Amino acid sequence: MYSTRRYLVPFGPKQTPHFFSDILVIGAGIAGLRAALEVPPDLHVLVVTKDSVQQSNSNYAQGGIAGVMSPEDRFENHIEDTLRAGAGLCERSIVELVVREAPNQINDLIRWGTHFDVEDGRLALTREGGHSHRRIVHALGDATGHEVMRAVIDRAQQAPNITVWDQTFTADLLTHEGACAGALVHRPQRDKLLIWAKQTILASGGVGMVYRETTNPAVATGDGMAAAYRAGAQVRDMEFMQFHPTVLYVAGSARYLISEAVRGEGAYLRDRNGIRFMLAEDARAELAPRDIVARAIFRCMDHTQHPNVYLDLTHLDPQRVHQRFPGIERVCQSFGLDITKNMIPVRPGAHYMIGGVTIDAEGRTTLPRLWAAGEVTSSGLHGANRLASNSLLEGLVFGSLCGRGAAEAAARMPDTFRVPPLQARFAASSLETLDVADVTNALRSLMVRKMGIVRELRSLKEAEESVEFWCRYALARTFDTQEGWELQNLLSVAQLMIWAALQREESRGVHYRSDFPNRDDSHWQRHLICPPPEQDS
Ligand SMILES: Cc1cc2nc3c(=O)[nH]c(=O)nc-3n(C[C@H](O)[C@H](O)[C@H](O)COP(=O)(O)OP(=O)(O)OC[C@H]3O[C@@H](n4cnc5c(N)ncnc54)[C@H](O)[C@@H]3O)c2cc1C
Repeated sequence: MYSTRRYLVPFGPKQTPHFFSDILVIGAGIAGLRAALEVPPDLHVLVVTKDSVQQSNSNYAQGGIAGVMSPEDRFENHIEDTLRAGAGLCERSIVELVVREAPNQINDLIRWGTHFDVEDGRLALTREGGHSHRRIVHALGDATGHEVMRAVIDRAQQAPNITVWDQTFTADLLTHEGACAGALVHRPQRDKLLIWAKQTILASGGVGMVYRETTNPAVATGDGMAAAYRAGAQVRDMEFMQFHPTVLYVAGSARYLISEAVRGEGAYLRDRNGIRFMLAEDARAELAPRDIVARAIFRCMDHTQHPNVYLDLTHLDPQRVHQRFPGIERVCQSFGLDITKNMIPVRPGAHYMIGGVTIDAEGRTTLPRLWAAGEVTSSGLHGANRLASNSLLEGLVFGSLCGRGAAEAAARMPDTFRVPPLQARFAASSLETLDVADVTNALRSLMVRKMGIVRELRSLKEAEESVEFWCRYALARTFDTQEGWELQNLLSVAQLMIWAALQREESRGVHYRSDFPNRDDSHWQRHLICPPPEQDS
């Protein structure tokens, strides 16, 4: 359908250094490192990550990890809550698998040194939107990801069979005879490098950077999704981008997430006139699932002609606020806001990519020898809408499954390896240089305006036209900078997202079409698989 080159950069096996590993893991967030830690010590694992090892969505997670950890709660409750949020598209067997595995994964993290918050000697559990019970474990108040990743990174760095290369950008997956054979990476000091692996695990995270307003860090540019698509792996459900309802909206601030746990602890949402508008929107008020809250805020901003709404914590016990939300308090303080006295200006931002590379119940993609885990995937857990705090959990569960499966498969393969005669040759583009930052900004702004929380045919068609136009000249070029490759990946992913949003003529979960406002199970209770690319080299 979409014309892309098979590889982003030219390479040849005789001009490029080689590296061999039993298992290659792309990405050092929760999914990638959890996968690496599952591999037995007699197999070598190389983990590559494009920035420092601390730069991942995982590291910025605030609210926590969902798991049935209290006697008042049951697996069935967590399963039902996940299915309800997923709006008819979750795969029940996957939901059951992940929910039942949650306590084991949380206990592993504790064994590895994660300090979750405790109350009266027991794990402190909070509640978030869509959860019927208190079941979210958290750490350092509102910096769960930071604490979890500290422990997981430490553990990986101590494992003698795991090597972590930071500042290593994966440009493409290598394929030979219909199977994944490793990856082509770029390192600042060494230029291109071919990494050959018996098995490859993709854990490269999400794509929030395709939107101007996002909670994601700069690394989330969809590189892994785009590379897997070019390599022939199936990608699906790309219309489902979850917007977080409450992102700090102060001129000059980075778009900092104000965790859902704030509403879980009793904060109210108010419009510019002080009205608690969620009461009229949903019986669960502020604790309704994210898509409902995000759309209600979108409507409220439109109705009041105001660029944001407000989160109000001023009626909560200030001591409790200090203890639970020290990070949020610090960030707001730096903009002169005392969250125990002032309301916090917020608006929705792109947060979590539900669609991605299709995997089965063991983490296999449709491309042999390629496994995948975490936000880069579509596992069937989230359906059409992710329940809060289920994604770190998904990364942990599928990370473990991939690590185990890939290790078993690698152990069955011989140690001798012949470099396949792979190469990609194309002339360096002679076109005028391109202002990469300008196209990137235009794309991110277009996605907010035309492919945002509320969609309809005309604006989606306009988005499609603009992105196709940019693709015509940006995808034809050969870049030698990371920014250029990231732009190419963002454009490819945006094309798939817009294509899928146009196809799905209904509203379901996080995908809302104002021209098709109802859910239509008879036509659309199914995954939407992206057509494979047309490749010219
Ligand atoms: C602000 C924020 C708060 C959140 N809060 C929660 C929460 O409380 N609970 C919850 O369950 N979920 C939360 N989420 C979602 C959750 O953090 C992510 O879905 C999850 O961490 C994804 O893990 P991952 O390992 O799949 O990807 P990531 O953690 O994003 O890791 C991806 C890795 O891949 C690397 N990478 C990317 N591209 C390349 C490339 N080309 N070459 C090499 N390496 C590459 C990145 O550098 C990174 O190391 C939150 C997300 C954000 C942004």
